[in-house]
Amino acid sequence: MIILVMNAGSSSLKYQLYDMSNESVLAQGRVERIGMDSSIVTHEPGGKPEVRQVSEILDHNGAVRNVIELLTHADHGVLRSMKEIKAVGHRVVHGGESFKHSTLVTPEVKTEIRRLFDLAPLHNPPAMMGISAVEMNMPDVPQAVVFDTAFHQSMPKETFLYPIPMVLYRRHKIRRYGFHGTSHDYVSRQAAEKLGKPLESLKMVTCHIGNGASCTAILNGRSYDTSMGLTPLEGLMMGTRSGDLDPAIVPFTMNKEELTLSEVNSMLNKHSGLQAISGISSDMREITEAMAEGDKQAKLAFDMYTYRLRKYIGAYAAGMNGIDTLIFTAGVGENSAAVRQAVCENLTFMGIELDEARNAERSKEARFISTDGSRVSVLVVPTNEELLIARDTYQLVKE
Ligand code: AMP
Repeated sequence: MIILVMNAGSSSLKYQLYDMSNESVLAQGRVERIGMDSSIVTHEPGGKPEVRQVSEILDHNGAVRNVIELLTHADHGVLRSMKEIKAVGHRVVHGGESFKHSTLVTPEVKTEIRRLFDLAPLHNPPAMMGISAVEMNMPDVPQAVVFDTAFHQSMPKETFLYPIPMVLYRRHKIRRYGFHGTSHDYVSRQAAEKLGKPLESLKMVTCHIGNGASCTAILNGRSYDTSMGLTPLEGLMMGTRSGDLDPAIVPFTMNKEELTLSEVNSMLNKHSGLQAISGISSDMREITEAMAEGDKQAKLAFDMYTYRLRKYIGAYAAGMNGIDTLIFTAGVGENSAAVRQAVCENLTFMGIELDEARNAERSKEARFISTDGSRVSVLVVPTNEELLIARDTYQLVKE
């Protein structure tokens, strides 16, 4: 079965075409700058040269039309007809409390996703545009939605509620939702497989550290606690996001700097984190390079980043009475041996022992980086959210 996976942002659309008979990627690509003067389309058809086009794409509808044309193109295509696509799976960031699992798109599901716009004003509307665009261009193809929040719906009240008036939860559903759920879910399953143990028997901490970063406590295969909250701002220090801070900093800064709500929101989401402390970049590669050249601010940013992650791992180990497995994934987690080393350095007290040579290895495969004697196994597991979306879509369409 051929499945198209879509991840729509406000001005972008990423896609991957899967052949589920062997879970191979037939083609992938992205449309960027949708609705702007010149949109850029990058298309990578398996076994053929990459295609790059600059054209005017007015909206997501136009973007989907463009993707279909490329996938079925005589030269750059991988399909004879779009009829070969049997289902489309979409990534949707916020499923609120309504969606505990992936689901097929129905009129009711669409109404509910629209109702949740309030909780994810930047992310859910583009996903909805993607769904409508597929409906217009491929009206008979079933669609599925896979939510970033769904995996975390297993959290108990003591971890998902904030200690603020209960009326705010009842009226506005203010609570911890968590994000990157597909990634935490995927890497925990991969790690259990690698360990040869049932997922249900393990206590894990998964660290998804990329541009955005979150850390999850997984107890018996289910999310027990996670560092992102009502929005993806809470928790770990990130590229440009602050992560945890004293909430009183918000009114204090607004007052002192005469900032508006939207300015302070932008400061915490776009001008904080690694970028703000290093004054160099939000990219961990540039931070580590500058650090090697002796830049003190870069070193401070690195130390804050790794310390804050280590604190979370310790907190989650306390929350679950110890852990069996620690997992690193996403851009930084998969590629930065220096970050993994610094995070694990002071965790020997809880049975974490890194193997220096294994940690330094580079590979695209899931692998152990702890010593054979380490009480807690530490793994690097490359994440693959698109594959999980394709798998969920396949399961839903097959049923
Ligand atoms: P992601 O959001 O998962 O795509 O992660 C992107 C981030 O991964 C980039 O912004 C970099 O900070 C980080 N990254 C990628 N490669 C490396 C590397 N070799 N060393 C350190 N950080 C890296």
